[in-house]
Amino acid sequence: MQTVVSFHAHPDDEVLLTGGTLARLAAAGNRVVVVVATDGSLGLTPVRELAPESSSRLGELGQSAAILGVAEVMYLGYADSGHGPLLYPDPADRQRFVRAELAEAAGKLAAIVRDVGADLLLSYDEAGGYGHRDHVRVYEVGRRTAELTGVRLLEATLPPSPAIRLLTRLGITRRLLLGPDSGTRRAIRPRAITHRIVLGRYAQQKQKALAAHRSQIGLGWGGRVFWILIRLPVPVFGWLVGPEAYIEPGNDSSVVADQLL
Ligand SMILES: [Zn+2]
Repeated sequence: MQTVVSFHAHPDDEVLLTGGTLARLAAAGNRVVVVVATDGSLGLTPVRELAPESSSRLGELGQSAAILGVAEVMYLGYADSGHGPLLYPDPADRQRFVRAELAEAAGKLAAIVRDVGADLLLSYDEAGGYGHRDHVRVYEVGRRTAELTGVRLLEATLPPSPAIRLLTRLGITRRLLLGPDSGTRRAIRPRAITHRIVLGRYAQQKQKALAAHRSQIGLGWGGRVFWILIRLPVPVFGWLVGPEAYIEPGNDSSVVADQLL
């Protein structure tokens, strides 16, 4: 049994980028710990449509994690930085994640990595998957944490499915998830994938875990995409959002591995 820490920006990212992988690792008897940087209170839904009490997103994360077989969920305590052209002021009690000092955030994550005795840290690639500013920050914090602790690092990237490749090439993926003014210009360019995890029988868990993020479903651009995704027949869902893909920094092997551990 090994311990894997999967680091994410917001509740729901654990499903979108790594859900099948986490379910498969947990089913194989490994201990999976999800760490989320923010509570996702500026999620996919437009700000004006959010319920005043949006911390329910952490509750939804707990349900999703249970479906995936995750042993533990931890929250770093930052506020969601949002994705529009504006970066809102910090709320009274917390700092927005992009404003956090890199050393501080990496220090918190490194403490968790050491505490749980992680054998592997999952983070995001340099585009943060699809370019959200908090996701790019996850990439930076993941890199620094790996330097601080020496833990093995794998960076999640967009699934290399034909559908997502096409949407990304057309510049549509980010707009689908974030809306027309996503407020970020970071280019998404394909990098060499070192690990590729086929969803297989874990596609169903991934879809159920996505459905647990109820507050994100139906509103805004991304919410409409979610609404469709959770209603697709499992094989279609699995074809569209899998396989999950990772890049291991410094791994130049031309062979793409089909498991992480
Ligand atoms: Zn996110």
